[in-house]
Amino acid sequence: METKNCKICESSPNNFKKDLRSGIFFFTCPQCGYYQITEEAFEVINLESITDDDKTLFSGYVRNNSTRENPLFLNTEMLSKIPEIVLPYKRLTVMEKVNSVLKYLGNTAKTLTDFVDIYLNDYVRFYLFKPNSLITIIHFLHKQKYIRIQDKTDHYTCLLTIEGWGKYEKLKEINVYSKKVFVALEFNTDFAEDLFKTIQSACYECNEFNAVKSDPSQHDEKICDKIIADIKESRFIVADFTGQNQGVYYEAGYAMGLGIPVIRTCKEDEVDDKKLHFDTRQYPHIPWGNMVDLKKQLIAKIKRIV
Ligand SMILES: [Zn+2]
Repeated sequence: METKNCKICESSPNNFKKDLRSGIFFFTCPQCGYYQITEEAFEVINLESITDDDKTLFSGYVRNNSTRENPLFLNTEMLSKIPEIVLPYKRLTVMEKVNSVLKYLGNTAKTLTDFVDIYLNDYVRFYLFKPNSLITIIHFLHKQKYIRIQDKTDHYTCLLTIEGWGKYEKLKEINVYSKKVFVALEFNTDFAEDLFKTIQSACYECNEFNAVKSDPSQHDEKICDKIIADIKESRFIVADFTGQNQGVYYEAGYAMGLGIPVIRTCKEDEVDDKKLHFDTRQYPHIPWGNMVDLKKQLIAKIKRIV
């Protein structure tokens, strides 16, 4: 049987299939998980210019955004944007990574007595660069008495303690007292200002939430740090996908990674035209026809999540 190494992490996948009709490759990689890739992206795109760190972060991105039932679809456009896609994950702090391991354990265990296996290959899932960092974090969580562990050859079997569940439950209540709401949208449309004002007034009417957006006239390192800081402090974010702006995709993905709720909206003709990107189409969007309609739906949605 023909074999091919994983396009992203270059390890030999334990499962590889090609759909002869569409020319799409299906991979099951022990590190990156399940994904589909077009033949063109697989054969033509050269990832040599991408740093190893960026490849590792992208491997984690694929792992976290893909399932066997709904595998992420990689094409040439996506592979050419790897440095931009992974940018938010470069800014995660050590404690955010530690907390993401704890959140993974809490989300995976269904009951108080469920053991969860964490494989050393799983380090990419937490946007770490080496398996050793995952070992360090597991030992730290153990020392803090958040978990009990059994050390196996290539994985740890972990059990959250009551202290661990306590910390996990606190982590889930992110920014519950925050009034800030970050709004991600495409600025380059004639309705952008109206759209922001509509979202702003819907937020205010719900619970006096204060909607903020980034300044579109600036695109430097400072503004990126400001966006990250605003997202981290938000109770939830509103992401409007009209116009398919890449920045909106990254900001929504970053918020999701932090466990911050994301309300997705999109002009209805773009939803109907199936213009939405493969990695967001699987989530429900509020389709809007006009501002009155959007505001009404948004208020109903906000009231449901807060
Ligand atoms: Zn891989």
